[in-house]
Amino acid sequence: MARKHINARQRPKIATSPKASQLLVGFDPITKLPAKIIFIKKGTSAKSYLCPYCNQTISPGEFHLVVVPKGQKDLRRHWHIPCYKRIS
Ligand SMILES: [Zn+2]
Repeated sequence: MARKHINARQRPKIATSPKASQLLVGFDPITKLPAKIIFIKKGTSAKSYLCPYCNQTISPGEFHLVVVPKGQKDLRRHWHIPCYKRIS
């Protein structure tokens, strides 16, 4: 008797959520420039990053933020949210 494979993925469809859940204008504590603050939602990042404040890893998929200094995209850094709040 073959087992019937039921593909019962009936999850409600959530409107395609953008990677950046929020975008704020803030400031970059490292370059001291005005910066774009982008919140990276839980589960949307595939890489791990090093937080410039605590030097600890931000794990893939972890909710965190990216600080992009104005006109200095290459200097963007990924921060733990509590770390950014502590320094800013
Ligand atoms: Zn940190």
